[in-house]
Amino acid sequence: MPITPTKKIWMDGEFVDWPDAKVHVLTYTLHYGTGAFEGIRAYKTPNGVAIFRLKEHMERLLRSCKILMMEVPYELKELCDATVEIVRVNELHDGCYIRPLVYLGYGEIGVNPIGAPVNTAIAAWSWGPYLGDHGVENGVRMKISSWARHHPNAMPTASKTVGGYVNASLAKAEAVLAGYDEAIMLGPDGLVSECTGENLFIVRDGLLISPPPSEAGALRGITQASIVKIANDLQYEVSFETLRRDDLYLADEAFITGTAAEVVPISSVDDRLVGDGRPGPITTAIKTTYHQAIRGERPQYEEWLTRV
Ligand code: PMP
Repeated sequence: MPITPTKKIWMDGEFVDWPDAKVHVLTYTLHYGTGAFEGIRAYKTPNGVAIFRLKEHMERLLRSCKILMMEVPYELKELCDATVEIVRVNELHDGCYIRPLVYLGYGEIGVNPIGAPVNTAIAAWSWGPYLGDHGVENGVRMKISSWARHHPNAMPTASKTVGGYVNASLAKAEAVLAGYDEAIMLGPDGLVSECTGENLFIVRDGLLISPPPSEAGALRGITQASIVKIANDLQYEVSFETLRRDDLYLADEAFITGTAAEVVPISSVDDRLVGDGRPGPITTAIKTTYHQAIRGERPQYEEWLTRV
């Protein structure tokens, strides 16, 4: 997907002009993949643009860095303040996607990451629905990937590790080239884990079910957690249970959740229609409430918003 440049990118405390936000070709992360990132969205609300669950995203970034033994030279508050500033200086009043990245920079080469400089950048730009308006409205076609999600002893799945996304990009390319919208990844045990950039829920007999992130080797999604709260507030019960691929085929409804994708109904899995192939009533109710919450139209979720 093309990026729409904005004016500035925050790099290690400086607001750098977009075209000058460059790194050396011998940057450690470019070679070995040790680095961590986040994906955050900001939305236009009736009281100005607001960043959705900023603190939770930056907390997860710091947790990812802890796992990777990268010492970030910024406190949580400094990272949150820099994010607010980058949205402000770029005048992204209608909302945007925000990409913080902590990477090991130029100076050391060889696999040992200890001693390599830790660099931090935060970029923001306008970005539409990740899986397209048609997908959000009508549902997306999913394919179970031939690529398994990482074994937790091969790659720490609780960290949004740069190099970990090779696995996701292989699965995404396979699914798209086969004519599907997105891949569902099974864990090394053959159970449903997550998608390439989203968590997954099914609805069975009125109950919402999502794979337990730790057991499934899935990222603990901030959207997933928001959906659990919204679902409970709408009086739907949510359960974290392991799922097999045939549970997906037999689900009454299914949808995926992620910052970039937001809430997107699943119309089919491996060419088996989910329900009648149309977004179901529970998916639609949850999607609608989520869209209102992120846009500041639901006062009860106001604490999730950081005004710019
Ligand atoms: N799983 C993976 C692999 C992801 O990359 C993402 C996107 N960050 C998610 C799940 C969803 O997480 P969140 O809702 O916090 O964006």
